[in-house]
Amino acid sequence: MKPTTVLISGASIAGPTLAFWLTRFGFQTTIVERADSLRLGGQNIDITGAAQKIVQLMGIEDDIRAANTGELGVCFVDEHNISKAELPKGESTVGTRELEILRGDLAKLLFDLTKDKVEYIFGTQIVQLTEGKTGVTVAFQNGIEQQFDLVICADGIRSKTRTLLFGDEPTIRPLGLYISYFTIPRSATDTNWARWYNAPGSRVIFIRPDNEGTTRVSFSFLSDPKGYERLPVSEQKEILKKKFADAGWEAPRILAELDANQDIYFDGISQVMAPRWSEGRCAMVGDAAFCPSPLSGMGTSLAIVGAYVLAGELARNADYRQAFAAYESLLRPYVNQVQKLPPGVPWAAHPKTKFGISLFYAGIRLISSRLVKRISDLFSSKTKDPTEDKIILPDYWKNTSI
Ligand SMILES: Cc1cc2nc3c(=O)[nH]c(=O)nc-3n(C[C@H](O)[C@H](O)[C@H](O)COP(=O)(O)OP(=O)(O)OC[C@H]3O[C@@H](n4cnc5c(N)ncnc54)[C@H](O)[C@@H]3O)c2cc1C
Repeated sequence: MKPTTVLISGASIAGPTLAFWLTRFGFQTTIVERADSLRLGGQNIDITGAAQKIVQLMGIEDDIRAANTGELGVCFVDEHNISKAELPKGESTVGTRELEILRGDLAKLLFDLTKDKVEYIFGTQIVQLTEGKTGVTVAFQNGIEQQFDLVICADGIRSKTRTLLFGDEPTIRPLGLYISYFTIPRSATDTNWARWYNAPGSRVIFIRPDNEGTTRVSFSFLSDPKGYERLPVSEQKEILKKKFADAGWEAPRILAELDANQDIYFDGISQVMAPRWSEGRCAMVGDAAFCPSPLSGMGTSLAIVGAYVLAGELARNADYRQAFAAYESLLRPYVNQVQKLPPGVPWAAHPKTKFGISLFYAGIRLISSRLVKRISDLFSSKTKDPTEDKIILPDYWKNTSI
């Protein structure tokens, strides 16, 4: 029998994970990625809970461990780089976790794992989807048209494919924070400890070591939605320069690297709330469908779990409509839990005034380390995972002859 053909839009985490499992279950998969090559930017992400079991099944847990960034923990510093509090790796459910890897390294790992069996098309995107009785005719930006049995959109929080499918039915819920991630050269002050610095004006600079001899930076600041994510990269860089010009600490050194930087990611931190994840022969997964935001600390793990469940349900249901319904009914409660953020996020992490910051540091100095860890749940980008083991993963691979 002719294998079911599936087109996946987006070659980051959700897309290639889905392609891995679909291929394992006998589907023929193609991935289209808008960028000309894999996007390798970003800081550490961690893999936790059910997602850890899935990467074990995929045979890449050891590779992920081997690509560990070597981060020893997170140190909270003042403008003189004096430590105010520390969260060593493994001593807390926040901060540095066990299975941490650069987002780009994970994307590369998943690409390498799938590239022999999955067709990758870079540098174009879907511009039109027309569903017929036997499949979906896809028009790509490069002028090519092709028919697939199913189309899955895994192209991130600002997915245009999602808009083609659902219009403005899914909503993007801004969380009042902008964040940018980018890579800079390592300097003498960078160690294997991540350093977190609060500047007045509700701004944070977070510097993290990597395993590639460079340093990963994030700038974040509280703000109402301003549409910055839609601006060209050059304008985004200008916004960051203005915003952090007087931030103090190591801001000048970081800003001096911005012009030359090639891997910046800049977005308004938000969650995607979609009342349904499928339409006819098309469905969505990962951030495109249910982005929980980096503040949940679960974006990547959720994308991995979602891709596994979607592939598994397509494998065990002959009818794609039943598969999409089963995927949603199994995953939706888990997504709802992950999207619930602790109170105070992200404001508690971004005090406005110098006084607020000094109070914050004084508070950290005074309270016990156990309480510091609990408070850090409120301001770290790695909030506690309240969802561990909150989804029972079906053993899809046991029910297939592949
Ligand atoms: C460059 C980059 C850096 C990131 N850095 C961090 C980080 O440091 N920390 C963190 O917590 N999260 C980060 N994220 C987000 C994180 O990867 C996701 O939250 C999570 O892993 C879920 O992944 P996803 O595959 O669903 O979506 P994403 O990782 O957002 O990937 C979406 C993919 O789809 C591609 N794409 C977009 N539009 C189209 C289109 N129209 N057609 C085809 N392809 C398209 C994108 O180029 C991207 O490769 C980053 C994402 C990116 C793209």
